[in-house]
Amino acid sequence: MAAELSGRLIDAAVDAIRVSADRLTALDQAIGDGDHGVNMRRGFEAIAAARADLAALPLDQALQKAGMALVMKVGGASGPLYGSLLMAMGKAGAEGTDLAGQLAEGIAAVRKRGRSDVGQKTMLDVLVPALQALEAGTADGLASAELLERVRAAAEEGLAATGPMRATAGRASYLGARSVGHLDPGAASSALLIGAVCDVLAGEA
Ligand code: ADP
Ligand code: MG
Repeated sequence: MAAELSGRLIDAAVDAIRVSADRLTALDQAIGDGDHGVNMRRGFEAIAAARADLAALPLDQALQKAGMALVMKVGGASGPLYGSLLMAMGKAGAEGTDLAGQLAEGIAAVRKRGRSDVGQKTMLDVLVPALQALEAGTADGLASAELLERVRAAAEEGLAATGPMRATAGRASYLGARSVGHLDPGAASSALLIGAVCDVLAGEA
């Protein structure tokens, strides 16, 4: 059961990145060096290539291994950041932490590795609101379909909110005020991946 879930999550995430890689690259052309789609595709093709091994593992171990693949395969800043996210989530999962707790640990690892926080126009501006929606919905006892919809909406709102922000972390910060008016590429890939995970989990519900 858990192994099947790993496989479905891998397929959904890989598909989402394949379909949107060009859009991620276009976003990075505006405020970065135009490689975010290429970076994400390289990382997720490595995960796709390891699908058989990963899907046979319990989800927490699959997350840790997928995270390691991202760290090793992706040259850009996003590889180590997404790698840290997945590895920390997997580690927390192995310790019996629930999904919200795993995401919280993953986000803490991104903050630490990136020396960054919300409001700096990065992936954290999507990941943190998504976590808040997950925590709030869980506390309210929402049925999972509604909870997943709220998480997805929070991620999309977080992405939209990066538009007017001025980047103060990562490569986009070099642009200063010229970063305003563009969506952050890493926030876009995070919203995409959260949407893909929500699709799979909604199918489970
Ligand atoms: P690079 O910036 O090395 O070219 P990518 O283009 O693959 O790497 O990824 C850029 C994305 O990584 C940004 O849009 C941002 O969301 C995220 N990012 C970069 N630096 C940081 C950081 N310090 N903290 C959080 N996220 C970051
Ligand atoms: Mg880049």
